[in-house]
Amino acid sequence: MDKGLLQKYADFIVKVGVNVQPGQALILRCPILGAEFGRACMRAAFEAGARDVLLRYEDEQAARLRMDKASEEALTHPMPSELRSYLDYAESEGGVCVLNIRADDPEIYKGLDAGKIHRVNVARRTFMRPWQEYTMKDKVQWCVVSIPTPAWAAAVYPGLAPDEAVEALWDTIFAVCRVKGGDPVAAWRQHTAQTTARRDRLNALDLASIHLASANGTDLTVGLAEGAVWEGAASVAQNGAAFIPNIPTEEVFTAPHKDRVNGVVRGTKPYAYNGEVIEGFSVTFKDGRVVEHSAEKNDALLGRLLASDAGACRIGELALVPASSPINRSGLLFYNTLFDENAACHIAFGAGYPINIRGGAALSRAELNAAGLNDSVIHEDVMVGSADMRITGKTKTGETVLIFENGEWAF
Ligand code: ZN
Ligand code: ZN
Repeated sequence: MDKGLLQKYADFIVKVGVNVQPGQALILRCPILGAEFGRACMRAAFEAGARDVLLRYEDEQAARLRMDKASEEALTHPMPSELRSYLDYAESEGGVCVLNIRADDPEIYKGLDAGKIHRVNVARRTFMRPWQEYTMKDKVQWCVVSIPTPAWAAAVYPGLAPDEAVEALWDTIFAVCRVKGGDPVAAWRQHTAQTTARRDRLNALDLASIHLASANGTDLTVGLAEGAVWEGAASVAQNGAAFIPNIPTEEVFTAPHKDRVNGVVRGTKPYAYNGEVIEGFSVTFKDGRVVEHSAEKNDALLGRLLASDAGACRIGELALVPASSPINRSGLLFYNTLFDENAACHIAFGAGYPINIRGGAALSRAELNAAGLNDSVIHEDVMVGSADMRITGKTKTGETVLIFENGEWAF
């Protein structure tokens, strides 16, 4: 891969994506196979004035071994020190920001006891919630990005030799993350300005609900939460620093009302959940709840996902992404939500983002509930957009506005 672009990618991620502030600590999670990239990000963080970088290498092969061999008792009872290792930094003087580098093999847990994996993940998420609040509420700057690993690259390019697949995936990541032109900072300034303008126009409409329709049978009405606001591309943390939570990002998203979703929606891309792939799903909603579901592949896994807790069978996010997004135009299936969710309109089963409610970061859980924001330990984005999708919005005064036609922005 092009070393010059690699350094540009690392610099851009740390200085613009996370926007590390002088005196802050950076928690950096990185796949062990991407150690070189992890160090490049660490270097960039110190250049930006970080007081310290906590680099956590993660090994998914070891994670699989542990999931298989360790007792469920041990796996579902994480040690307090694990949660404290994040909170100690978050509560420290100067504060913290987070960079999460993901490169999961989409089928890393294939063949293991799916029930156990599910129980372990739910227990872990529940336990880590006090830390998760920091990112869900944008209390700190956070950013999720990806780099190729052989297992992930092989899933995206099954026809290529391992080395070629990794090279091809680097090339694609540089292209869809706007690094290839050589000036990602300028390219992203333009992209975020455009997305922000679209977000502002949607907010000005003051919509009560959104309707999604497609020839595949999708016919879904999503009522929006009280005080719902649209967000997109760039966010601002409590310390005033702007950051980009996801790279790439092509979405403008808002909070559905947890009790006001009705109709049928079909999945248009497979998605990886708990190390397995769910494909060809269809779900029916009644007053916000999924009352029926099916999937061509791994329907039982979908059922388990929806039964994670009381809020898992309701949605917490609705995101609009045009079919012409660079990720969709690549024609690839990434089996990685960070990429696939930016190829199509999506909904997320589970928790909504408090930032999608006006003033939401300062509201209590009870106030967020009253506004209709969904709550759950899971947040799983599933792709439902298609090239023929038509989306309309209904304003609070009863007017209908065309938002998407043939999968593209229409206003
Ligand atoms: Zn999204
Ligand atoms: Zn999401």
